[in-house]
This record gives sequence, structure tokens and C-alpha cells, in this order.
Amino acid sequence: ALSIGIVGLPNVGKSTLFNALTKGDALAANYPFATIEPNVGVVGLPDTRLGRLAELHNSVKIIPAPVSFVDIAGLVRGASKGQGRGNAFLANIRDASAICQVVRAFADPNVVHVDGKVSPSDDIETINTELILADLQTIEKALPRLEKEAKVQKQRAGAAAAAKAAAELLNGGTTLYAGAAKAGIDVAELQELHLLTAKPFLYVFNVDEAALADPAFLDELRALVAPAEAIFLDAKIESELTDLDEEEALELLASIGQPEPGLHQLIRVGFRTLGLQTYLTAGPKETRAWTIPIGATAPEAAGVIHSDFQRGFIKAEVVSFDDLMTAGSQNAAKAAGKVRIEGKDYVMQDGDVVEFRFNV
Ligand code: GDP
Repeated sequence: ALSIGIVGLPNVGKSTLFNALTKGDALAANYPFATIEPNVGVVGLPDTRLGRLAELHNSVKIIPAPVSFVDIAGLVRGASKGQGRGNAFLANIRDASAICQVVRAFADPNVVHVDGKVSPSDDIETINTELILADLQTIEKALPRLEKEAKVQKQRAGAAAAAKAAAELLNGGTTLYAGAAKAGIDVAELQELHLLTAKPFLYVFNVDEAALADPAFLDELRALVAPAEAIFLDAKIESELTDLDEEEALELLASIGQPEPGLHQLIRVGFRTLGLQTYLTAGPKETRAWTIPIGATAPEAAGVIHSDFQRGFIKAEVVSFDDLMTAGSQNAAKAAGKVRIEGKDYVMQDGDVVEFRFNV
């Protein structure tokens, strides 16, 4: 399954955040949480549509889409040269589909900063540098082989050229995610190298409570990482939220002017960064969100439920969540002509409420 790797310098709040993520959440009552290994947590994708859909269908159960997070420790300055746990973290990052860097932007003099001062831009550069150095090592090692192959097989020329161009970009201090497109580098050619900086990035700024109400400050931080997505939260408050019941949690959020926990935003943005979306099914037994890649067709979506559904796919009865809610019931949506019959070429949209017809 696709997962989001959490990285960051020591003492920035990674563990605090990871523990809050996997501890459970009063505001997401029906969502299952599980910690598979000490550093892997699976959380439900917060989606307010599910509760409303479940109500409409009197569903007994709600099953949200799962999102996996991996706490990747050991990425410190000099890691690529063997500092700290050295390259041990690399294998963990390679397995992740997206990288989420936690960046310290809270002041607290009681929490030591490894480099002696709180500087989000320096921290981002430090982590980027380690990942860039790791990629450069990978490319350096692979390049002689790629060049040899390019001489023998014409279709391998693209990979060798892309690797060279990538090394040049990385040497200039730019990650592939940030700069490959602009430099005309086809990262698809480099897939076999599993380069770390080619993965999608997102950033969590761990800020003081007061900063959450300071849009100018947040804009400054956002500018450091654009066009990558930035999430702002106070990890300490997030961890307090998980200790409260629903009413108390809502009160605490209201007192800091937040509509929802920052963790919910993180899960949603992470999910989107992975290139994923959900469609929904609903009935008396359960209302459920199913994960599909953006661009998936109706039979591919059916295959996520069961491979037989894909093989025997006939058609899909589809209504958008919004149309269904406006109509008030499946039957009313049908009467209003909002329920479409879609065939095998239909490209699924996020929030489609679906019933599949298939041969067994
Ligand atoms: P990690 O090394 O990145 O996993 O960092 P930890 O989560 O262990 O946090 C390091 C220290 O910073 C701990 O003492 C936390 O209680 C504290 N800390 C984490 N997040 C915050 C925050 O948002 N504000 C403040 N003031 N302290 C925090």
C-alpha cells in the first residue's frame, strides 16, 4: 500500500505528531486506527461525507479510506556521510510514496534545536541536502551501467541522458520534485533508480499556537516550500486533542480558531499528494470509502472491491455525493435524473456514490 514517510531533524516534533496521528481521535469516532509496526500507523481519511451518507442509508458501520504513515527516524545532518544511524533511514524512505517533512517553527527555549537556532529554511535545506546527496550517490553508482546499456540498446539512451541531467540539477541544490519538470527531465526514465527527491513532498510546519492566527507568518513559511503543500499545526495541541472527548476537543479547537484538527488536514493533503481519491458505496451494512488513483476507470474502481467485480463488470450506477444529498435519497436522485448509468470507459470522479453491476 502507498505510504507517507515522515522525516525531519531531531526534536522538531515528529514523534509527538506521529503518536497523535495513531492514537485515535475523538472527532473521527468511527475511524479505525492501527499501528502495524512501531513506526507504521494506519489512519482513516477524515471525510464528513461518510457520516451523512451513512445517515441516509441507516448504515451500521462507516469504513473510511486508510492512509499509512511511516515514522522515519535518523535523518540528520551528515546522514549521507554516515552520521547518526547513517544510511539506515534510506531503505525506509525508498519504500514511502511521498515524503512529509516536519519543520520546527515553534520557539520553546526548553526544547533544544540540534543546530542551536530555530530556522525553518535552514532545516528544510539540511534535509533536502541529505536527500540530494543520497540521490547523487545512487546516480553516480548507476551511471556507468546506464551509459554502457545506452551504447548497446537505443531505447536505453533516454535513461542515461535523464540520469546525467538529474545529477546536474541535484548538484545545483534542487530536488527532482521541485525542478525536474522545469529542467525538462523525464523522471519516468529514472523510475528504476527509486530516487528519493523525485517523490512528492509535503511540509508540516510545527508552529506555536499564536502563529496559527498570524497569516503573514504562515505565508512566509508557505513561500519556502511552494508549490509543495504546507500544513500548519501545533503538535503539542494536536497531542492534547487526542486526550479529550469530542466536546472538549471542539472547545479547544474553537479557542484557537481552528475548524478541525491540523492532523485531519495533514491526512487529507497527504492522501491527495499520493495522487489518490475516493469513491463511496453505501447500504444498510456499511458506508465505505474506496481508494483509487485519480484517473481510474469504473472497472478499475470495481476491482478495488473485488477482482471478480472488475472481470465481470457490466456497468456502474453513479450519482455524485452532492446531487444525492440535494435530492435527499437514492430514489429521489433517480427521479431527478441524477443517477447515471456508466460503462467501462467512465473515468471515476472523487465522491461518486456507486453501485456496480457485474457478472459472476
Ligand atoms: P522528534 O525528535 O522530532 O520526534 O521530536 P519530539 O516529538 O520527540 O519532540 C521533541 C520535544 O519537543 C519534546 O519535548 C516535545 O514535547 C516538544 N514539542 C513537540 N512539538 C512541540 C510544539 O508544537 N511546541 C512545543 N513547545 N514543544 C513541542
